[in-house]
Amino acid sequence: MSAPGTAERPLCVAVIGAGPSGFYAVEALLKAPGLNVRVDLFDRLPTPYGLARGGVAPDHQKIKSVTAVYDRAACDPRVRFFGNVKLGKDVTVDELRARYDQIVYAVGCESDRKMGIPGEDLKGSYSATDFVGWYNGHPDYRDIPFDLNCEAAAVVGIGNVAIDVIRILAQDPDVLAKTDIAEHAVSVLRQSQVKRVYLLGRRGPVQAAFSPKEIEEVGEIKRADLVVKEEELKLDEVSKAGLCDAAAKKNYDCLLEAAHKGAGRKDRKIFARFCVSPVELIGKDGKVCAIKLERNNLEPDGKGSVKARGLGRFETIEGVGLVFRSVGYRGIPVPGVPFDEKAGRVANADGRVVAAVGGPVVLSEYVVGWAKRGPSGLIGTNRACSVATVGLMLEDLRAGKLAERGVDVSMEAAPRLLASKAVKVVSFAQWKEIDKLEIANGKKSGKIREKFTRVAEMLSAMGPSA
Ligand code: NAP
Repeated sequence: MSAPGTAERPLCVAVIGAGPSGFYAVEALLKAPGLNVRVDLFDRLPTPYGLARGGVAPDHQKIKSVTAVYDRAACDPRVRFFGNVKLGKDVTVDELRARYDQIVYAVGCESDRKMGIPGEDLKGSYSATDFVGWYNGHPDYRDIPFDLNCEAAAVVGIGNVAIDVIRILAQDPDVLAKTDIAEHAVSVLRQSQVKRVYLLGRRGPVQAAFSPKEIEEVGEIKRADLVVKEEELKLDEVSKAGLCDAAAKKNYDCLLEAAHKGAGRKDRKIFARFCVSPVELIGKDGKVCAIKLERNNLEPDGKGSVKARGLGRFETIEGVGLVFRSVGYRGIPVPGVPFDEKAGRVANADGRVVAAVGGPVVLSEYVVGWAKRGPSGLIGTNRACSVATVGLMLEDLRAGKLAERGVDVSMEAAPRLLASKAVKVVSFAQWKEIDKLEIANGKKSGKIREKFTRVAEMLSAMGPSA
């Protein structure tokens, strides 16, 4: 029998997850010189693009234009999209193993880290990722009853997700209403009583994980002042040295400028606070009503940066009825795929799946994106990550390191299996029908797009089988 990847017999690959890293893996496979390849791209939702659709903030449309690149890959005749197919529910890993030469997991990080403090489970305490999914119309988060009927909100963590949340809370809903933000979110934001938003960093301004452009944008929100305490910008020696990093310096200068401006006159305030750690969410009648913070000192961590150490000095911010923890995403295990519990991602060695951390390689199985590295980096970071993993796939292919199993790689193998299980598969052409409808529905109300926010709505909206 001919070897996979040769002119006589394509290499058949399943990519699980149609977010940025999945699409970049598809793209890299299509571009591999001399490789005869066929790729089936699966996603648990009927809609592709992962965080480019469900994570990127609605007022950051330029970032979303990256989907044009993904569309090109999806429209290549060697690629098929199987939307609305969930690994572990509609199809098992063993079933994929029997139908593909290689499998790439591009499943991202679908959960988040906890703060681990008392009161974290009170009403009003949420994960930032829930809020992001909610305002972006992701079906999983659509029905979370966010209640913005409080005076103040706190966002814990100083990364770009925290900044997105801050902006959505503080921005004029009329500005957001023109984007592709979910309609249910705009109506709740219009009723919002939140006047003060706190951005809480456990370390200092030089250690902030947000990008300069993001914090600058916060300073430009028309109806809110960015308020910074100058004394919280005082730097220890290690942090001073950290200013040689261009992004850290820009962040610092932006914060310093805000500190010099003072509190301003706008009726909404965004307080950026540093060297404070939440130690308790205080509740009343089961709901968050205040947040208790401990002041931190920064000490060298022995790795060139600083760590926060509590000083035993506390303060309480009253009136905080909403807390969003934005302290990082975390992967969730996929049935049948080895998981690294500690790191919260697929167990892997540089992109090759391993049976357990430090254990042997699982032949023919690979991982890309956040599921491989953990939740860091911008969308573009995933391209190099996927290219590197695809490099390993081709290296293994050339070395004959493929799992030994009888594989039915016929074109019909996967569709036949899914049909036998009555899975309602959404093709890329059908997604494009949904896409057209969303854009048309948005036009009616002066928006870029009005997303379908329930899977059932998407399925009933799409045209006949393509
Ligand atoms: P992140 O960049 O890793 O930031 C997490 C933040 O949480 C850090 O400030 C971290 O502080 C803090 N933190 C962690 N544990 C904490 C704890 N127990 N208590 C208090 N603070 C804690 O994560 P992210 O914001 O979720 O973003 C994920 C990735 O997506 C990033 O690479 C980000 O740049 C990217 N992203 C980009 C955009 C954009 O380009 N517009 C938008 C959204 C997301 P320490 O540093 O002290 O650990």
